[in-house]
Amino acid sequence: MTKVRYFAAAGVCAAAWMAAPAFAQAPADVSLWRLDCGTAAKPTAIAERFSDTFAYPPDKLQPFTYSCYVVKHGDDYMVWDTGFPPGANANAPKVSLADQLAQLKLTPAQIKYVGISHYHADHTSQLPSLGNATLLIGKGDWDAITAPKPAQGVNAAGFTHWTELGGKVEPLTLDKDVFGDGSVVVLRTPGHTPGHSSLLVRLKEKGAVILTGDAAHFHENYDSNGVPAFNYDRAETIASLDRIKKIAANLKATVIIQHDPRDIGKLPAFPAAAR
Ligand SMILES: [Zn+2]
Repeated sequence: MTKVRYFAAAGVCAAAWMAAPAFAQAPADVSLWRLDCGTAAKPTAIAERFSDTFAYPPDKLQPFTYSCYVVKHGDDYMVWDTGFPPGANANAPKVSLADQLAQLKLTPAQIKYVGISHYHADHTSQLPSLGNATLLIGKGDWDAITAPKPAQGVNAAGFTHWTELGGKVEPLTLDKDVFGDGSVVVLRTPGHTPGHSSLLVRLKEKGAVILTGDAAHFHENYDSNGVPAFNYDRAETIASLDRIKKIAANLKATVIIQHDPRDIGKLPAFPAAAR
């Protein structure tokens, strides 16, 4: 009896040992670039739409930037958010996402995944140039995009390739460990929109980075749990900010608020990458 138990125990140990090499592998080489996806033509008076608690005086102005990102994992590439295309409006970038990819010697066809923080046009309008990519998007947002009558603010047109032309899509109900090794994770941070997501990227030298999407639009709202008036679900937004702050504390992460120009300098200037 004792012997049988011994071998059974040894079997468990052996199984654990067999699984070990997966963890022993050198972590994949991960790089992160910020791409310019627009600059607000003029600063925004934030009292009006960016606080549902009247937190800001009428004369308080906030400049906004628009950011897209590229993540390289081994030989695979992912884009996070896509901005407006050049010429779309006064805030649009001068150089398209595809042309910025070309500066990294990449073609849009090489992009394997495109992660979208949420369905607003300033995050999704250059999606059509990435038709080869699998779309990663929160299911709440996907349901809003594919609804018979998409709600106001949903840029359904940007998603046509995935909604009507057979593009590959993964509507996410949970976090998505994109490459299976924990280095790039789409985080469920709903509230701004029903399926809003953020992105965690863990880099060897820089450490963890969190791209917040629009969980907050600028530092003051992030620091104070401030919620915009045009928000989808207030309680979810507060819970998502709490989650981001706890992850940031636990992983000592660099938090990047994508619309806040004060955070542009947290990553190297394009075409340099954080590693
Ligand atoms: Zn938004």
